[in-house]
Amino acid sequence: MNQFSMTINGSRVSTSSGYDVLNPSTGEVVGRAPLCSPQQLGAAVEAADRAYRTWRGDESVRRETLRAIAGIIREHAAELASLLSLEQGKPVTSPELGDATTEIEICAMYFDYYADLDLSPEILPSDEGSRIAIHRRPLGVAALITPWNFPAYLSSWKVAPALRAGNTVVLKPSEFTPLTVLRMGQLFSQALPPGVFNVVAGDGSLGQLMTTHPLVRKISFTGSTVTGKKVAAAAAQDLKRVTLELGGNDPAIVLDDVDVDQIAPQIFNASFGNAGQVCTNIKRVYVHRSKYDEVVEALAELAKSVRVGDGHDPQTQLGPINNRPQFERVRDLVNDAKSSGARVAAGGSAIEGAGFFFQPTILANVSDGTRIVDEEQFGPALPIVSFDTEEEAVARANNSHYGLTASVWSSDSTRAASLLPQLESGTVWTNAHNRFPLDQPFAGQKWSGIGAENGRDGLLGYTQIQVTHEVHG
Ligand code: NDP
Repeated sequence: MNQFSMTINGSRVSTSSGYDVLNPSTGEVVGRAPLCSPQQLGAAVEAADRAYRTWRGDESVRRETLRAIAGIIREHAAELASLLSLEQGKPVTSPELGDATTEIEICAMYFDYYADLDLSPEILPSDEGSRIAIHRRPLGVAALITPWNFPAYLSSWKVAPALRAGNTVVLKPSEFTPLTVLRMGQLFSQALPPGVFNVVAGDGSLGQLMTTHPLVRKISFTGSTVTGKKVAAAAAQDLKRVTLELGGNDPAIVLDDVDVDQIAPQIFNASFGNAGQVCTNIKRVYVHRSKYDEVVEALAELAKSVRVGDGHDPQTQLGPINNRPQFERVRDLVNDAKSSGARVAAGGSAIEGAGFFFQPTILANVSDGTRIVDEEQFGPALPIVSFDTEEEAVARANNSHYGLTASVWSSDSTRAASLLPQLESGTVWTNAHNRFPLDQPFAGQKWSGIGAENGRDGLLGYTQIQVTHEVHG
């Protein structure tokens, strides 16, 4: 069995203790992950702190290095995509519904994008004889904690801007999916000076140790709101800068004038992509009563036709749920909806067998107040709710602690766009969902997060302002 090692100060570091990472499609062991000790974490942070003093100095070296990393990712794309599929469950190839090959390609694109982005100082108008410039300086050691739904992608969209800005990094992938990121740590070391990029793995207390380490100056965390609040509390003790991306309960509002055949496949893909395990996926659909039955029927047909299976089977369009706790959570939410009177229009049950497979599920005759409508399900089960007026739909969509993304669907795009400013979400679309060009900032409102990722704002999140005011005597 393949034993994976950490990357600390440019070297491969193994540990005496470790644990098996399981393939969620089969229950078989994919590889053995290391368990980082507190001493090893200390060594990683100290190495990053030492490396920071040089790494922060030369921007052109950083830009070149990011391009080199993009090249390394592309060179090893097939190996990384295969490993990602084995430990996460997503298909190697299924671009419509999220696949490992696309995820790895996007990682390379992030490194190229942040290599190219301009971060020149802003020059303020000033009196003759003086020069005022606003610089964006790095922060120091960045502790990055990433989840199991997009292990490679969400790591890259933190690592690339962190390094580009001149910070050094200690990255901890989720204990459910550490292997691809551990491998990336080894590969990236070919291009990076020792200590600039460290990857550690653990399963219980490592995240908390990272967020409380005195040499860490920036924390970026993607995961649940419950853990995000703990991260924010830890950051507050030391005024570490913090970015949090904490999921959503993203609504889609379908108005009475839609062409159902046209929109249903788009809504389906934006709900079930990555087996529903995407923070921005549509998690509840509000449909005008006049179109309700038609929309339920169309989504149910799509759910019944999608091929669920092992990520390494070329026929597979949707993989399993990644891990047992999440599988049980989705199953409990669907069972709760059924016992509350929901009509199962498609799916509704776990698929018997070794893996964490769940039938793509469409639930009708549900409403606010049912757990699967009010909470983030983060899996392949979608509640469809009816409404009568636009005001009511907007109010119900906003009635959530979350505020990540939302969409409005209508044949009249002006009418749809008029609702966008009323929606309390960081990204809102008309007639689309989950469109993320690299330069589009991504920021959650309310309990969905603090700060922005992606685009120029994502890069600024890894910097602090320094104003230079020069007076020429
Ligand atoms: P969590 O979001 O709770 O995060 C677990 C991660 O956080 C682990 O890496 C853990 O590392 C670390 N961690 C735990 N406690 C702390 C702490 N006090 N300080 C710093 N880091 C800490 O993940 P789950 O897997 O439990 O997911 C639960 C729910 O999160 C899902 O149902 C889903 O709703 C949501 N989610 C959202 C995602 C998103 O994209 N926004 C992605 C994945 C999940 P360690 O144990 O080593 O400390």
